Order: sequence, then C-alpha cells, then structure tokens
Amino acid sequence: TAFKDLNLSSALQKSLEELGYTTPTPIQISAIPLLLQGQDVAGQAETGSGKTAAFGLPILQGVDTSLQQVQALVIVPTRELAVQVRQELKKYGKYMENLKISAFYGGHSFSQERASLAHPPQVLVGTPGRLTDHLNRKTVDMGMVKQLVLDEADKLLEMGFEEEIDQVLAAMPRKRQTILFSATMPDDVKELISNSLKNPQFVKA
Ligand code: AMP
Repeated sequence: TAFKDLNLSSALQKSLEELGYTTPTPIQISAIPLLLQGQDVAGQAETGSGKTAAFGLPILQGVDTSLQQVQALVIVPTRELAVQVRQELKKYGKYMENLKISAFYGGHSFSQERASLAHPPQVLVGTPGRLTDHLNRKTVDMGMVKQLVLDEADKLLEMGFEEEIDQVLAAMPRKRQTILFSATMPDDVKELISNSLKNPQFVKA
C-alpha cells in the first residue's frame, strides 16, 4: 500500500510527498481507511508507530476550512505533546488554505488563547485542564466538533484526567467521530472506549 492508494486529498498527498513519506506505516494502513469512512477507531500504538499521522491525516481531510469553528479536537496528556502534535499536523496541512491549528495547554497564556479564539481554529489540540478552563469560562464553543481524538488515553487516565475528559465530552455533540489511541489497553481504557466510542473498530500497530 502506498499513500496514493489511501484516498487522501491532493493537498495532503502533496505535503506527504514533500516530507518524503512514501509508505504508510502499518497503523496508518489499518486506521486511515476506517477513519475516512467515518468509523470510530480504537488504536493500540506506541510513539514511533506513526499514530499521529494515522489520526491526523483523516481529521485534516474532514475539516471544512471555509468555516472558522472548532471542528476537530485532539486531547493529549501533556503540553509537550500538544505542541508536538500541532507542529506535526501543521506540516501535513501545509497546502490546505485557511487552515488554522491551535494548541492550548497549561502554562501557556490563557488570555492569548482566548484572544486567538476571535478566529477559531478548525483543529484544536489541548490538554484536559486547559480545555475545561476554556469551557468553564465560556471562551470556546465545542458545539460544532465533529471529530474527537483521545491521544495517549492510558496516560490521560493515569494522570487523573477522567473528570476533565467527561466534561469535554459533555460539551460536544453526541453525533461525532471518536478516535482513541493508547499504548496499552488496561481496563480503565477499555471502559473509556465503551463509554465514548460507537461501534469501535480496533486496530493495532
Ligand atoms: P508518531 O508515532 O506519530 O510519534 O510518529 C513518529 C515519527 O514518524 C514522526 O516524526 C513522523 O513525522 C514520522 N512518520 C509518521 N508516518 C510516517 C511515514 N509513513 N513515513 C515516514 N515517516 C513517518
């Protein structure tokens, strides 16, 4: 399988080509077609497997860049990961006109984040505590989120973010695509999958 067989938009294919990506990784080969069909996917994959592109390419393909509203939300456990995921998604979305991707996380200026929401991003990457801060202060609208990614779900739960995740889930439409990635699949992650994904398709790196 080559990237050109995965039905990705020409804008995405162009950036992948420029980055020198020729062959999708195993997790990308199994997850991307399911995600482009709109299915909920639970993936077991470690860092280095190419998991970020596995969820990132389909979510980028799913956003409507003619609208300035948060359409895809990626929840990550740490600020480092928030910054890194945003950077990676920006590389893939380089040729998508009017695409805005923001990262919101603890330690970052709240007022700067709030000001940036005058022009909401289509894709928002954030840590749970900071995302719930925005919800509590009504600075962000998650009512138009169509795609949710829970990245490093085992770590999110280990760090005690269950309540924040529940609050974010409650703020977005039920009718959405939910994607979860985790390096391990302990019982609490399985429970999160059954509580937040619909008819989940399981893939493994
Ligand atoms: P991740 O597992 O998402 O942390 O990705 C690991 C690294 O592999 C990242 O630096 C990506 O830029 C890179 N990468 C992801 N997919 C591919 C691919 N299909 N071909 C080459 N490099 C890739």
